Amino acid sequence: MPKELAGPLHQRGGAPWVRSSATIYVGGGLERPHVKIFHVPDCLFCGIAAGDIPATVVSSSARTVAFRDIDPQAPVHVLVITREHHANLAELAAAGDGLLAEVIEQAQEVAAREGVAEGHRVVFNTGPDGGQTVGHVHAHVLGGRPMHWPPG
Ligand code: 5GP
Ligand code: ZN
Repeated sequence: MPKELAGPLHQRGGAPWVRSSATIYVGGGLERPHVKIFHVPDCLFCGIAAGDIPATVVSSSARTVAFRDIDPQAPVHVLVITREHHANLAELAAAGDGLLAEVIEQAQEVAAREGVAEGHRVVFNTGPDGGQTVGHVHAHVLGGRPMHWPPG
C-alpha cells in the first residue's frame, strides 16, 4: 500500500474536523474502489469555525466567527476569522467577494460589544516576520488597556 494511504486518516495529515479543502479522487470500480485524499491542511481555526474544536465564541455571522484568544494580550482580545479557509490577509483580499469587509465589520461589532469602540487595535499578522502563527486569516481585536507604538 502506498505510504500516503497507510494508517488512519488523522495520522496522515487529514484530521477528521478539517473541512477547509480537500480533493478526493475515487476510482477502481465498485469491487476494488480506491480513494486518495490530497491537500487536507490540518487547520486549527477551520476546526473552531466548524464547532469541532472548543472556543469561547462571542459572536458569529454566516461567514465569520469571533472568539476569545486563548492567550490574551489585553483585557479584550478577540479573534475574528472567516468560516472559509484563507491563509492570510492577502488571500482574503484577493478573493474579492466582500468577505474581508465582513471581517472588519465583525471586528467593529466586537469592539462595540466589548466596550472598547473608542480605543482599540485591529491587527492582521502575516507570515513569520509578521508574527503569524496560525495559517488561517484572523483579525485580532485588542483593547482595554493603552496600546503602545511601535508594536514589538
Ligand atoms: P497569530 O500569532 O497567528 O497572529 O495569532 C494566532 C492567535 O491564536 C494567538 O494570539 C494565539 O494565542 C491564538 N490561539 C492559538 N491557538 C488557539 C486556540 O486553540 N484557541 C484560541 N481561542 N486561540 C488560539
Ligand atoms: Zn483554516
